[in-house]
Amino acid sequence: MVAAMDISIRKAERSKLQDMNLDNLPFGKYFTDHMLEADYENGEWKNVEIKPYQPLLLNPSVAALHYGQAIFEGIKAYKDKDGNAYIFRPHDNYNRFNISAERMQMPQLPEEIFMEGMKQLVALDKSWIPTKEDHSLYIRPFMFSSDEVIGVRPSDNYKFLIILSPTGPYYNAPMRIYVEEKYVRAVPGGVGFAKAAGNYGAAMYATAQAKKIGYDQVLWTDAFEHKYVQEIGTMNVFFIIGSTAFTPSLEQGTILDGVTRQSSITLLKEMGFAVEEKQLNIDDIIDAYKAGLLYEVFGTGTAATISLIKELRYKDFVMHFDVASWQTAPLLKKWLTDIREGRREDKYNWMLKV
Ligand SMILES: *Cc1c(COP(=O)(O)O)cnc(C)c1O
Repeated sequence: MVAAMDISIRKAERSKLQDMNLDNLPFGKYFTDHMLEADYENGEWKNVEIKPYQPLLLNPSVAALHYGQAIFEGIKAYKDKDGNAYIFRPHDNYNRFNISAERMQMPQLPEEIFMEGMKQLVALDKSWIPTKEDHSLYIRPFMFSSDEVIGVRPSDNYKFLIILSPTGPYYNAPMRIYVEEKYVRAVPGGVGFAKAAGNYGAAMYATAQAKKIGYDQVLWTDAFEHKYVQEIGTMNVFFIIGSTAFTPSLEQGTILDGVTRQSSITLLKEMGFAVEEKQLNIDDIIDAYKAGLLYEVFGTGTAATISLIKELRYKDFVMHFDVASWQTAPLLKKWLTDIREGRREDKYNWMLKV
């Protein structure tokens, strides 16, 4: 047994909750009363503290702002009808966080700070968990290098924080997607599998170009041939072709191993689909569409859960989908939401009670 880590708690004097309406929330704009903060110094994690949500005081030379050693996670907490709070599969996010940390030459975070710290923080701000449909408490753990030195090398000092945001739906409307052929998100040997901050900054230009011509997001393709599909924005992607659900495989390290992706694979199998994780060529997807066998295309991710794709454009070829007639993606979303909100049996033990 590891000795229990000391997490000190300093409570806010006044809750901001009384000024809030938890019924109609944008994504990621409001934050709860408290946050967790910990420091990595001299090779160890210390000063683990839950305290009032507040700005950070940083020296302008702080390394993360210059060289981008910065990683994050995204997790959601829900309340069941009896008011019990649960977090969805946080241990998977913990494991992924340390995978990202290793790739970015950052220190591993002890399980206790991430898991126990998160539980205590969510318990303290439990009354911030919205109960309205499609709403939840978004949990954002993150780590960044904090050496006050301008020099390209891994820092000796890091900060780990967790902040909480009560949120509404992320994307609610079915999306139009542009298959990207010029810009790339990830390459084999790169950092595509890590939830590293720089991946998102690097993706914004291409996304903005697609938005200019009326698309909501891009579907990234491989760097060499621009043929093999990867992900949609910050979501994994699934194609229902006949009675098989296809999703790009992870082995090249160019795709983020989504917890919603894993959960969707499990539930699609439960629904009776064959699930294939493989390299998916856009030409094969188009052939399936032309043959009338491409039934559904959707994205999966913690923020949006399941996002329906109503249009997919590759070069001048446009695929249209009648999302109103779909069976699978809406059912998948319902099952996931019902498990999270306590209306469907949690047979895979995904919900961690706070
Ligand atoms: C976070 C993320 C996902 C989705 O992962 P989940 O664990 O399901 O939230 C997919 N792709 C990218 C690039 C991401 O950053």
